[in-house]
Amino acid sequence: MGNKVMLRIRKNLCLGCGVCAESCPKQAISLASGQAEINQSRCNQCRLCLEVCPQGAIGEFVPVSEAELASTVGSLRQKADDLVRRIERLRQQKNA
Ligand code: SF4
Ligand code: SF4
Repeated sequence: MGNKVMLRIRKNLCLGCGVCAESCPKQAISLASGQAEINQSRCNQCRLCLEVCPQGAIGEFVPVSEAELASTVGSLRQKADDLVRRIERLRQQKNA
């Protein structure tokens, strides 16, 4: 199953100018305490807001599910274990 791209506001860059909210055809952006916020359930990923933001504060990201994260961590752990075993073997050969 492919991961859906989502748009999000980089809060450290957003000035709360509201240009993005005005450009959004889905009324998915609101301004809360001086910063833009995207309502993901309304957003259709048209990327209009991303193009108009003068701050480049809107970016795309791909959310990763917990299951995928767990499987990535699992395989990394496996690789690390293999590496440790190889190093251990080499060390024993050297000392033999
Ligand atoms: S256009 Fe950019 S800087 Fe302005 S409110 Fe939207 S995200 Fe923030
Ligand atoms: S990507 Fe399109 S629909 Fe989504 S918040 Fe931006 S302008 Fe609105």
